[in-house]
Amino acid sequence: NPNPNPNPKALPLKPLHLHPLKSSIPPLLPIIASTTSPPTPAQTRVDILSESLPFIQRFRGKTIVVKYGGAALQCNVLSDLVLFSCVALRHVLVHGSGPEINAWLLRTGHESKFHNGLRVTDAHTMEVVELVLDGKINKSLVDEINILGGTSVGLCGKDARLLTARPSSESAVLGFVGEVARVDPSVLHSILADGHIPVIASVAADEAAQGYNVNTDITAWKLAAAVGAEKLILLKDVAGILEDRNDPRSLVKEIDIARIRRMMEEGKVAGGMIPKVS
Ligand code: ADP
Ligand code: MG
Repeated sequence: NPNPNPNPKALPLKPLHLHPLKSSIPPLLPIIASTTSPPTPAQTRVDILSESLPFIQRFRGKTIVVKYGGAALQCNVLSDLVLFSCVALRHVLVHGSGPEINAWLLRTGHESKFHNGLRVTDAHTMEVVELVLDGKINKSLVDEINILGGTSVGLCGKDARLLTARPSSESAVLGFVGEVARVDPSVLHSILADGHIPVIASVAADEAAQGYNVNTDITAWKLAAAVGAEKLILLKDVAGILEDRNDPRSLVKEIDIARIRRMMEEGKVAGGMIPKVS
């Protein structure tokens, strides 16, 4: 690069230079296609960036809420988010941490219990949920994003009254499992406008500052609705909604509300998939 950009903050505009670059490439493409050798990594990179251009243009300035939790926590997702934030997509990352909470509960002599896909949360479990989710996982996600060259702000629902909780309708069974009573996304607008990635632990409090464990899928969709997000992405280590949940080949690629209702009535959608489709 003859003109390296000394200011990494100016990087957001760089991919736009790919357009003229791409238009100078087409005469070469048939030659590349006719050789038997596979494309070089550099060619692959140019192709990927060129193909991303229409998407970058379409989603520039738009907000996308990504829910990222449990077993799906992987570093390459974070580097994608940092990359997209460099091209002016606005991401809100909402996270859970099912397995880690289970592990810390076990260490403190408690077992994890679930009811309809939601964690039964007594006072001790609530303390562990807050320590692990907001204290440990949230801060390590902020660390990772910072290491990758992005900037993020770690929050939970309590900060700036982002989420106000109320006890769930099944609180007799579920304990301190909360529903989202109110969302005030004001704090997110300024964080996003400054180019940071808000990283949100799915914990909230009621008016009396009692903490609640809120299912991460529910937090994600409530926030997506409140910020007027363009997309809500639920990342998971299963392929998606399965017609037969024991058969990974039965992936439902497209679905409407009537069919979701039918699958729920037939018991085909259960457990942790219920809050997702809800
Ligand atoms: P996360 O930790 O990402 O919130 P959950 O474990 O809570 O994920 O929810 C996803 C789980 O829901 C799947 O791993 C699967 O066990 C269960 N499930 C129930 N019904 C279905 C279905 N029809 N298709 C796919 N998964 C289903
Ligand atoms: Mg879940």
